[in-house]
Amino acid sequence: MAPLIYPRMAVIGCGLIGSSVIRAAREAGVVGEVAVADASPLARERITALSFADQVTADPAEAVANADLVVFAVPVMAMGEAARQATAAFKPGATVTDVGSVKAAVAEALAEAVPETLFVIPGHPIAGTEQSGPDAGFAELFQNRWIILTPQPRQDAPYRKAVERLTQFWTALGSNVDEMDERHHDLVLAVTSHLPHLIAYNIVGTAADLEEVTQAEVMKYSAGGFRDFTRIAASDPTMWRDVFLANREAVLEILGRFTEDLQALSRAIRWGEGDKLFELFSRTREIRRDIISAGQESAEPNFGRDRGKH
Ligand code: NAP
Repeated sequence: MAPLIYPRMAVIGCGLIGSSVIRAAREAGVVGEVAVADASPLARERITALSFADQVTADPAEAVANADLVVFAVPVMAMGEAARQATAAFKPGATVTDVGSVKAAVAEALAEAVPETLFVIPGHPIAGTEQSGPDAGFAELFQNRWIILTPQPRQDAPYRKAVERLTQFWTALGSNVDEMDERHHDLVLAVTSHLPHLIAYNIVGTAADLEEVTQAEVMKYSAGGFRDFTRIAASDPTMWRDVFLANREAVLEILGRFTEDLQALSRAIRWGEGDKLFELFSRTREIRRDIISAGQESAEPNFGRDRGKH
């Protein structure tokens, strides 16, 4: 077991990710007391029944009192409000982080709501499933996954020490930790995660709208490809609505490029340009091979895997 890193941890929003952080941190032995605040009465009931927290409350201020580490794990657009509810109660010198899938908007919301006597270090685990809620979490979720931290642009020793401590925490949970500029993070994730989810939501919507293809036929004849899309398109609607609203700029930029490439593909099909299609499909096959050989087959959240494969 790793040594204790944070004597008291507060997790605000205890669904799939929040509850997985608690389970993993408890298993690793890096936290002492754990307090949870969740807005959902049903989630609070389940968290109490699952008994992985020492304190369960609806009030973020109650949970963060005396906490050395505060982890915000609510949907991206709710981060600011949840942090503001806790503003007066934070312990000076504590570390405040989050697990949101978008970083620039969340970093700004946290910096506004959290007093300067604390260390704000936004973060994003590149790990997840299409499930939600405290029952869906599990301790192994972060093992061999990347955690991207997007520290503030400050280099003072106490802040760097706080970043080092948070890195030790995630490492003890089995993760690999990288640091990145928050805007760069949002652009990278727009390509690797946000756009694929948008495509999945769209393709399943399109199939459902095709009246001549009945729902039964869509399900009956859905082989690998479409089936995978339906799983991804079953991801939490609140979470993904917030991701697209909070990462609007980067997603629109990538969507613009994607649409241009799709137009080129459509032209190649229309004009029977088989060599163009073959060249692209060969190039993408190589990319897949590179990803597999780099051991990153399922590094994207929600994409290409389900809980059973963890
Ligand atoms: P989740 O399972 O839906 O859990 C979120 C919990 O937070 C719910 O119980 C929700 O209650 C509660 N909540 C919402 N607003 C709150 C507030 N203001 N104060 C306190 N609690 C509040 O969500 P999740 O999948 O764990 O996602 C949490 C965060 O992790 C998101 O920011 C997401 O972008 C990020 N993330 C998710 C994944 C993934 O694969 N799911 C991967 C990486 C990162 P209600 O149900 O009543 O709203």
